[in-house]
Amino acid sequence: KLILAVETSCDETSAAVIGAGPRILSNIVASQVDWHKKFGGVVPEIASRKHLELIEPVIDEAISEAGIEYKDLDAVAATRGPGLVGALLVGFAAAKGLAYSLGLPFIGVNHVAGHIYANFLINNEIASPFICLTVSGGHTDLLYFDRPGSYRFLGRTRDDAAGEAFDKIARFLELGYPGGPEIEKMAKTGDANAIELPRALVGEEGYDFSFSGLKTAVINYVHNASQRGEDVNKNDLAASFQQAVVDSLTARLEKAVMDFKAESILLAGGVAANQVLRNKVELIAKSADLEYYVPPLNLCTDNAAMIGAAAYYRYADADFDNLDIGVKADLSM
Ligand code: ATP
Ligand code: MG
Ligand code: FE
Repeated sequence: KLILAVETSCDETSAAVIGAGPRILSNIVASQVDWHKKFGGVVPEIASRKHLELIEPVIDEAISEAGIEYKDLDAVAATRGPGLVGALLVGFAAAKGLAYSLGLPFIGVNHVAGHIYANFLINNEIASPFICLTVSGGHTDLLYFDRPGSYRFLGRTRDDAAGEAFDKIARFLELGYPGGPEIEKMAKTGDANAIELPRALVGEEGYDFSFSGLKTAVINYVHNASQRGEDVNKNDLAASFQQAVVDSLTARLEKAVMDFKAESILLAGGVAANQVLRNKVELIAKSADLEYYVPPLNLCTDNAAMIGAAAYYRYADADFDNLDIGVKADLSM
């Protein structure tokens, strides 16, 4: 079975072909980051315009790199949400148009589910039940899956998402965009114990997260230093901030691992590209004697292969969408 998947929820124009497994036959990602960089974040109007320019060539490339032809496809999928409405529309309309003209079933995919399903591209057999920590630019969710497709929320962020916190702090420290990789780079030569920062909600009941207090603490630290006329060591600050985020995330994960019976731990989303987080989660899994899964770096951040992976399981259940379905900017899982 061959599925063409399209992802345009934010600032990556991406198309992929997924074959049986699911496995990746092609995964083309055209990043617009250079166009958004000078604004310090994604500009929605620019994103939509760039998606329009790039969507056709990117889909064509995905088909040709997979070594197939359009007539070989069995289904077409696209991200339905969450994301920027204008950006979503471009990929969704292109995919629906293809499904219509090829007479194929169409599958509108939840982007955050896609992040989770990226794990199944690497391992088709993941032992259930599993606990999944999804950490991205817009989401920080702790989920319990009885099996793929059947889950419940354990916790979520009450304010900023983890990736959002990375991006905001990077912007504040003038480290560039996107913030996560820049902070990780700076942190490499910094001391993670140099600056004391809060770990919100750790030790409290439940499994929710909170990062706005940490953000405020970093901003206050810089303001106080500058009032005293002191220089801020950005490497130490980046390392201390990164450690605080990782500690906050993994403390809640550790609690869930103790409270719920699971076979595996999954990490997903753009922030899962962070090596300090990956190492810590791997350690938690090891000491709890659980399997640990995380996508390779290129499948952590936005890409169409993960959308195709989620669609693959929908296809297996013949769970299709009508072509009159629309995008949903605030679509929830
Ligand atoms: P969502 O998936 O919630 O809709 P999004 O698609 O914008 O949001 P992703 O593409 O999944 O988010 O991830 C991007 C986020 O991941 C950004 O906030 C970015 O800073 C963060 N990120 C990427 N690499 C790293 C890293 N190495 N360390 C920390 N954060 C990272
Ligand atoms: Mg992005
Ligand atoms: Fe994403």
